Amino acid sequence: MASNVTFIGAGNMAGAIMAGMVQSGYPAAAITATATRDTTLQPLRDQLGINTSTDNHAAIANADVVVLSVKPQGMRKVCESLRESIQGTRPLIISVAAGLSADTLEQWLGGDLAVIRCMPNTPSLVGAGASGLFANDNVSDAQRELATQLMESVGIAAWVEEEPLIDAVTAISGSAPAYFFLMFEAMEDAGVKLGLDADTARRLAMQTALGAATMAMRSDKSPAELKRNVMSPGGTTEKAVAHLEQAGLRNALDGAMQACAQRAREMS
Ligand code: NAP
Repeated sequence: MASNVTFIGAGNMAGAIMAGMVQSGYPAAAITATATRDTTLQPLRDQLGINTSTDNHAAIANADVVVLSVKPQGMRKVCESLRESIQGTRPLIISVAAGLSADTLEQWLGGDLAVIRCMPNTPSLVGAGASGLFANDNVSDAQRELATQLMESVGIAAWVEEEPLIDAVTAISGSAPAYFFLMFEAMEDAGVKLGLDADTARRLAMQTALGAATMAMRSDKSPAELKRNVMSPGGTTEKAVAHLEQAGLRNALDGAMQACAQRAREMS
């Protein structure tokens, strides 16, 4: 029988994960979501057929897994209000909140609990997410497998064995959709300068990114090799790539990811 999973908070991130779970065949009857307003919950009931409640305590009574998916600033209050119930039933806790350590969450919930920290990203909304996961010492192998299954329903999942590496995950996937959106903006502007209309430029840039990512994921070749394969000596791509190297693209990405991880460290 499927584990009962209760989401505390039913916003963008929880909504994406729940939709992914249902689409990948997880029984809707085993999923419960809570929010402060029923207007948030009604579309989830109607579209996904899951259980919903505005009563957090009632919603976790039979939960094997509690997914904490409220905003980080509201998390302490929610955890402390659930402490007694959680200590009674001791479900697996999965938190998708940015910047809150497993220790902090465990402490707010009263201690000695199996806690998994998950850093998802927004492409989870379209089933193409990339999530990093960290488990504290109380998490069993079966609980790890369940968390993998939940996050793989909205994309790929990768485990890190040291909690600070969640900050590296934030830098390479959590925050990284924005790096690509920035590139799309810049490529669209450059395409317009070259005479294309904005819509055509945007569509071609995005499809090219999708194509490059799909090709790289399906190929045995390294990105460096794939890059060399499209660069004939003296040709157009060689010119473009040389320009990107001279302009410091590698350095810019390295700096951006260091800054991102540093900010994540400061926040936790
Ligand atoms: P969101 O869309 O604002 O959703 C928050 C949800 O929490 C809302 O459904 C809200 O209910 C509910 N809520 C607030 N207080 C509650 C309470 N006391 N009891 C039950 N539910 C309560 O936020 P989000 O973007 O999904 O983010 C949620 C978490 O995901 C955050 O911790 C964030 O760090 C993490 N995360 C988000 C992203 C992202 O891209 N969105 C990426 C990585 C991690 P109402 O709708 O009724 O107000």
